[in-house]
Amino acid sequence: MGMIGRKIVTQAGLNVDELIDLLNKAYSDEWLAYYQYWVGAQVASGTMASTLIPELEEHANEELEHAKKLAKRILELGGTPVLSPEEWYQKSTCGYLTPKHDEAAVILKQNVQGERCAIEVYNKLLFLVKDKDLVTAHLIRQILEDEIDHEQDLENLARDFQVTLPLDDKKCSCQK
Ligand code: FE
Ligand code: FE
Ligand code: MG
Repeated sequence: MGMIGRKIVTQAGLNVDELIDLLNKAYSDEWLAYYQYWVGAQVASGTMASTLIPELEEHANEELEHAKKLAKRILELGGTPVLSPEEWYQKSTCGYLTPKHDEAAVILKQNVQGERCAIEVYNKLLFLVKDKDLVTAHLIRQILEDEIDHEQDLENLARDFQVTLPLDDKKCSCQK
């Protein structure tokens, strides 16, 4: 923990422990997203699999990088990143969509759903910190840009392969 680094956030009017908890929720989401992409890339089959797999692997690596950046910020603020995988499920907002069906198109749809949830989570978090903790805001904005890019990449693939995606995100439980 950096003493003054934490103090400036408190002085700006943020409850740092609550912020650490929100960052740990996002951190848990990232690990689940990482595994969902990673294992999806292993099992994907079907007509679009050879195109989809490299994208899934790339996104998996980027989710892991997000987890790393969040862990660093949590530590700077005096918190501890979630230490046990069991807690990922408890803390996660976006959850984990098990790729029970190995058809690449189904895996693609599940990952789009995950990205849409992530965008909402990070957008909300960005507005919470944007005037009070510029370091976290900068980090969250970088991650949000990546998640928006991920959604777009997957939407482009869905269009190319004529996979129908949900038109809205009403089934997203990300506001809990
Ligand atoms: Fe991510
Ligand atoms: Fe993503
Ligand atoms: Mg990509």
